[in-house]
Amino acid sequence: MPLYLPHFNLQDYNTLASPVFAHCFVSVHNEDELRDALLYAKKENLPLLILGGGSNIVLRDDFPGLVIHIQLFGKQIERDHADCVYVKAAAGENWQDLVEFCLDYHCWGLENLSLIPGTVGAAPIQNIGAYGVELKDVFSELTAINIQSGLPVTFTLDGCQFGYRDSIFKGALKDQYVITSVTLKLNKHPSVQTRYPALQQELAVYSADDITPQLISDCVCDIRRRKLPDPHDIPNVGSFFKNPLVSIAHLQRIQQTFADVVFYPVDDTQVKLPAGWLIERAGWKGVSEEGVAVHAHQALVLINPNRLRGDVVLQLADKIVASVQKTFGVELEQEPRVYP
Ligand code: FAD
Ligand code: NAP
Repeated sequence: MPLYLPHFNLQDYNTLASPVFAHCFVSVHNEDELRDALLYAKKENLPLLILGGGSNIVLRDDFPGLVIHIQLFGKQIERDHADCVYVKAAAGENWQDLVEFCLDYHCWGLENLSLIPGTVGAAPIQNIGAYGVELKDVFSELTAINIQSGLPVTFTLDGCQFGYRDSIFKGALKDQYVITSVTLKLNKHPSVQTRYPALQQELAVYSADDITPQLISDCVCDIRRRKLPDPHDIPNVGSFFKNPLVSIAHLQRIQQTFADVVFYPVDDTQVKLPAGWLIERAGWKGVSEEGVAVHAHQALVLINPNRLRGDVVLQLADKIVASVQKTFGVELEQEPRVYP
């Protein structure tokens, strides 16, 4: 039976370092312990928080339920074919460890997703993405346990309904499954994705022949280390908002006042606006309020240097949302999930 710890401080378990307490906390190291914890929560009628690395959650206040910390480990090459390799990793594995494991095995596809914090099990929740690659591009299947029945289920690519920083686990199947493992289908032949300008600039000093997946990974890590605050030093949850999609007509209205608005075409009717640009132009870059701040180098990142509770961070987030709405008529959607 796993160890149930009452009144547990979660400050070291969320990258915003918010000092809130869980009514009860349990680490699960195998599926039997996970089932035990799910039964315990059901019996005691406790709300659940399934916790990975805590890098995409905002803990607003004390959590009045059971936090299940996913500590399922193990990763292996499942199948090695002529063109592709299937790699399976348990949900508690660190994402970057998996990226390095795959690079060492010379199977490619994860290089643009280097250095994203958190666990393997959380990666499908928001279909993690960076530098033009998303989890869905390399996803094969995942296993999960149904929270109500305790039964195992396998989800294929179609079943996950991946979208932009989105999946069925944030929508129709929200809070219904605990992901226990993820299997990726990786390429044996390198096919590098270099369309993001920041990556292109970083690669400009290399000749085309030198651009390998390992180099892409190294460059992505270098850019991220320079640009993003390390949560260990300056608590944060990465991008606080998703990049909004707006119609072409809306873009044209914004261009009447902001001719230099940055945008990326999505399809014939919509464009993506970088939320960081909107926040910066609305005047929030570097602004500090009540001890939390908008990062001075990347306006999409809110930082919590004083390690305050999530409610203070959310107050600043709300002001930014209202300001961007007023300035551009665009509704920003928050990326990290708020508890309770
Ligand atoms: P947690 O924060 O622990 O959980 C996030 C959500 O997933 C919660 O709702 C939780 O209940 C649920 N969950 C976690 N594990 C499971 C499971 N096994 N089964 C079911 N539900 C589960 N994200 C990107 O997409 N791209 C980036 O480039 C990126 N960069 C980042 C940079 C920084 C500096 C930081 C701090 C964050 C960044 N993120 C990025 C956000 C974050 O790293 C990812 O969303 C990551 O996948 C979260 O993993 P986690 O284990 O920390 O999840
Ligand atoms: P960036 O390179 O400065 O670009 C700013 C924004 O423009 C990004 O959000 C990106 O959208 C978009 N963009 C840039 N080039 C694009 C292109 N060629 N086509 C389509 N969209 C383009 O961004 P950054 O903040 O340094 O982040 C780099 C990458 O890491 C991004 O992909 C970002 O999503 C990811 N990241 C995510 C988090 C998180 O917490 N979710 C945190 C840090 C970094 P997209 O965001 O849609 O890619």
